[in-house]
Amino acid sequence: MRRNIAPLFLVFVSLMALFGLSGCGSKKSHAILSQTPAPPKLLSEVDLKLYKPNEAGAIMIVMYHEFNPSKPNGPMNRTPDQFRKDLETFYKEGYYPVNVSDIVDDTMNVPAGKTPIALTFDDSRRSQFNVIIGANGTPQIDPNCAVGIMETFHQQHPDWPTKGTFFCLPEEGPFPPTFYQRDYVADKIETLLKHGYEIANHTSTHPSMRDYTPAQIEWQIAQSIRDFKAINPNVNMQCLALPYGNVPTSPEAQKALISGENNGTSYHMHAVLLAAWRPVMSPITKILHSKEIYGGMAPYNPYRLERVLPNPKQANVCGTLEYWLKFFQQNPQMRYVSDGDPNIVAVPKDYQSIVNVAKIKAEGKVLQLYSFNGGGNSSGGASTLNVQ
Ligand SMILES: [Zn+2]
Repeated sequence: MRRNIAPLFLVFVSLMALFGLSGCGSKKSHAILSQTPAPPKLLSEVDLKLYKPNEAGAIMIVMYHEFNPSKPNGPMNRTPDQFRKDLETFYKEGYYPVNVSDIVDDTMNVPAGKTPIALTFDDSRRSQFNVIIGANGTPQIDPNCAVGIMETFHQQHPDWPTKGTFFCLPEEGPFPPTFYQRDYVADKIETLLKHGYEIANHTSTHPSMRDYTPAQIEWQIAQSIRDFKAINPNVNMQCLALPYGNVPTSPEAQKALISGENNGTSYHMHAVLLAAWRPVMSPITKILHSKEIYGGMAPYNPYRLERVLPNPKQANVCGTLEYWLKFFQQNPQMRYVSDGDPNIVAVPKDYQSIVNVAKIKAEGKVLQLYSFNGGGNSSGGASTLNVQ
């Protein structure tokens, strides 16, 4: 029996050395163990030149309301044909749909070379999601409502997933049911979640909350959460769009937009959205004081996310979708362009000063700064400058 003691002791000592164990060394052992995963593979020069990724660039969040075929020029309306054309344009110009939560959680899964775009739909109107009775007598999605158009587009373009954030209103008091067809509310919510869309908060009764108290705001948000959870417990409202884009005046009320509690329902929003008017910088950029540095884009603040609004009558006015689409054609370097690898944050060296390095590290990702030799074009070789 005695013979076994020495080898066992040696094994124990070896393990202590391996994991850095000492008298109370459990913390140290965790530190060493957490360093074991190999760092992700950096992008190659070929990929950098091919995709020119810029994960510090700007992202458009588009705001839609009504899809009425007879009001082609209304600022709050898009005809079904205009919306089909929007999707064609986004697809052709290298955009790729994400939900708002994907942006603010920095979990966008966008193929290399593509630019994320978030389509948002306010007020849960019937033209966004309408059910009709088909020829065989069964209910089906109206091919001319927004969801029907996106579903068809996805069937025709399987590499364009069904994504979109719906800022829905519940049926509270005198207000109509969500999407205006009471018999189909539950089916519609279930379908949206199943297909990858996001259900988000737009308050309970759509008030202007400019002069609201924190308690009033908490009821507005929490009651909507209760109403939608009663329809489908899988609804997880992480984003809030302010009715009319109106921000409450008092700082306490502004805090209640993000976190609060009412009658046993507590919430924490990941994002608060305004109405218009600029694309927003990437979630891995810092908020700096000099606005010029962002080239006209909105600094990244998840609790003040701006949106762009389709309006064909004001195509040349800053703030509209038409204006910004043209802007990004002329200034492609301002676009967020994915590197295709969720673990790597590839950013041209020119953007280094606005990158939020601490956030990238906290997310467990690797920053890859690069430049093209001999200027900003891809004629020279690409080189990775430093990796943090
Ligand atoms: Zn609204």
